Amino acid sequence: MPENMKEFELILQIQRETLVRAQGVKLGIGDDAAVLEIPAGQDLVVATDTLNAGIHFPVDTSPRDIGYKCLAVNLSDLAALGATPRWALLSLSLPQADSEWLRSFTAGFRSLAEPCGVALVGGDTTSGPLSISLTALGVIEPGRQLLRSGAHAGDLIVVSGTLGGAARILDLLQDGAGLSERRRADRQRLDRHLLDRPRPRLQLGQSLVGFASACIDISDGLLADLGHLLKASGCAARLATDSLPAPAILKGLEDAQRWSYQLAGGDDYELLFTLPRSHAAMIKIWRKALDIDLSVIGEIEAGEGICCMGPDGQEFRPQRTGFDHFRKRS
Ligand code: ADP
Ligand code: MG
Repeated sequence: MPENMKEFELILQIQRETLVRAQGVKLGIGDDAAVLEIPAGQDLVVATDTLNAGIHFPVDTSPRDIGYKCLAVNLSDLAALGATPRWALLSLSLPQADSEWLRSFTAGFRSLAEPCGVALVGGDTTSGPLSISLTALGVIEPGRQLLRSGAHAGDLIVVSGTLGGAARILDLLQDGAGLSERRRADRQRLDRHLLDRPRPRLQLGQSLVGFASACIDISDGLLADLGHLLKASGCAARLATDSLPAPAILKGLEDAQRWSYQLAGGDDYELLFTLPRSHAAMIKIWRKALDIDLSVIGEIEAGEGICCMGPDGQEFRPQRTGFDHFRKRS
């Protein structure tokens, strides 16, 4: 920030524009630290994630979408444990003190914080390349959290929503330079929400407590995140490629290309969970009660690794397996 006054004004603006009533805020923005009251008999659940411009979102992403997404990706982590979100801390690194930009950012943030009952209770504001770091805090009954470990051979593998849409949009935006401006604009209007507006599956996560044997949110791609769950659980998985749920934007692609997006594309923020067969009837109940797509995409097996079976009975091996920040890019 160029001067202290600017920083102070920005913080006041954030405080004003993000005001959401939430339980347990004894002291919020304005002092040196916040004081939160954790309800008796509950544990605190904490997750943090950073979004860097050009890495986690295209540089032309609107501030409104950035404000939404920085909260959404963290709520998705709380959802994976089955927690209920309550509070958030926001560290903002901004190239300049731009109150217009900030107004859009806080509007996007609030559009998710409000319905989820999440209060922004503190943070930090600095100058530098655009980077947003958010810490989400929530609560859960002790011992009830869903873990990556806990899957057993024979469990069903289930995912919410659709897979591969965000990665497809990102590719279209990046290859888009050669398209006519109009077609580019159309594509962005129609489908960018798949990339910019992931829906944290909070209700689903909470409903899975007591039923699912393991759970993870898919942020880096199905194979990568299922791989984490399998490692933690000490087992293997068999997937059926024709059962992977596809968003409309993937329809019309060749099978191998569509499967690659679904298996390896990142940024979907859907939940992947394993369910003992004895609870299989719950899938129908959750679909209806939560108005959510749930697809059984495979089964947990003994051993290690992931085997993806195509409809022809042949194993399918995608070229990419997921997003890794520290992998060399060709
Ligand atoms: P300190 O220098 O003591 O860390 P600051 O001047 O950075 O305090 O912050 C003053 C208050 O504003 C604190 O309550 C802090 O949590 C809050 N705050 C600062 N930046 C943000 C932000 N980006 N979002 C939410 N709260 C913020
Ligand atoms: Mg201080």
